[in-house]
Amino acid sequence: MFDSLSDRLQGIFSGLKSKGRLTEQDIDSAMREIRMALLEADVNFKVVKSFIRSAKERCLTAEVMDSLTPAQNVIKVVLDELTRLLGENDAKLTLSSRIPNVIMLVGLQGSGKTTAAAKLAYLLKGKGHSPLLVACDVYRPAAADQLQTLGDEMGVKVYRGDGQDPVKIASEGVRFAIDNLRDVVIVDTAGRLHVDEDMMAEAEAIKEAVTPDEILMVVDAMTGQDVVNVAQAFAERVEFDGVIMSKMDGDARGGGALSLKQVTGKPIKFISAGEKPDSLEEFHPDRMAKRILGMGDVISFIETASKIRADEIEAETAERMQRAQLNLNDFLEMKKQVKKMGGVSKLISALPGGDKAMASGQVDESALDRMETIIFSMTKKEREHPDILNGSRRARIARGAGVTVQDVNQVMKQYNETKKMMRKMMPAMEAMEGGRGKK
Ligand code: GDP
Repeated sequence: MFDSLSDRLQGIFSGLKSKGRLTEQDIDSAMREIRMALLEADVNFKVVKSFIRSAKERCLTAEVMDSLTPAQNVIKVVLDELTRLLGENDAKLTLSSRIPNVIMLVGLQGSGKTTAAAKLAYLLKGKGHSPLLVACDVYRPAAADQLQTLGDEMGVKVYRGDGQDPVKIASEGVRFAIDNLRDVVIVDTAGRLHVDEDMMAEAEAIKEAVTPDEILMVVDAMTGQDVVNVAQAFAERVEFDGVIMSKMDGDARGGGALSLKQVTGKPIKFISAGEKPDSLEEFHPDRMAKRILGMGDVISFIETASKIRADEIEAETAERMQRAQLNLNDFLEMKKQVKKMGGVSKLISALPGGDKAMASGQVDESALDRMETIIFSMTKKEREHPDILNGSRRARIARGAGVTVQDVNQVMKQYNETKKMMRKMMPAMEAMEGGRGKK
């Protein structure tokens, strides 16, 4: 998703950066190129028009043109404008104090609704809720079975009812949640191939019966700009609160995501990118905009990292990590966690320019395994006190691991850099911990 837009924009900016001072013509031609890139990414033409107008106006101010780093400021303007297109402020799921909260999912058949329902339940479960999934798609054969399978996989109870009346099943589901102390009910409704009268009438009836706190429309990112039309048609009949955009892992050009908010007024609240239970994420416009511009998404990465339960990390390692006093055993432990987070590739792609590095094959996944072999070739004392690793010890370790001394030096360099980085990150981590505590 966004790959080719991202490449195009980064190409345009590297051209600008090589120029130093910028003239009005430079801005004009950059804006023309950005306009083309957005149109080719399938962004709604009216959205593109207002984007370019606003970006150009801001770029031609003295503040940008006369600054010492005009190209950087142009990039900042484009970043702001992209963030605005994607929805600006984070649109959060609003849960009320009512128990149970009811979330209703609507959308066309095949949009990924059933999958999203289950993944949303999983996400809420991870936040300490006890969700209930309610299967109201009585038309698509096997829809309830699919939800049941997903629910079982994610450890979430599914209410199926036994009749053919979706409105009744929804109401019974809420009653079941009350009786069984579930605090969030997620209602999966039936989709149709197109937005039609039957689907609308049924969605309205379910809405009336269970008065959802939140209605989310699931749209398929692969349908491009058409998601805007579907969402608009839907909103005319059944007012909904936000969008779950599915299949963000596909090669969609991104036009739908970039047009949706401005055209329909509905924010993207979640994105789904894959088949795994944890592949539904809260959507953050600012982080996505940074990703598109190749600035990385370190915050999301840190969040993934912090999802790893503290008790999964060796207690002693955790303690030494907190004091930024790692030894090489801790380094091995950290490596294990990196694998759990999806490997080096995922880690690198969260960093600025990381997606490019991945694409150009600069990332060597096997480096982690080599590092492990090298550390395993050290004595216990060497692992606990890496400072004693002099030249002759390093030569012995290299022989034992079947690598060169440079490889050993490389691991030591990485280890020292990690230690340094952890020391630098300490204040930020502590601030994050403090922030969390306050919620
Ligand atoms: P529904 O008809 O709207 O309930 O759609 P489903 O939940 O059955 O999804 C339709 C198809 O899309 C299924 O094959 C899902 O596995 C697939 N799917 C759903 N979400 C995603 C996603 O985020 N990424 C990918 N790659 N596939 C998805």
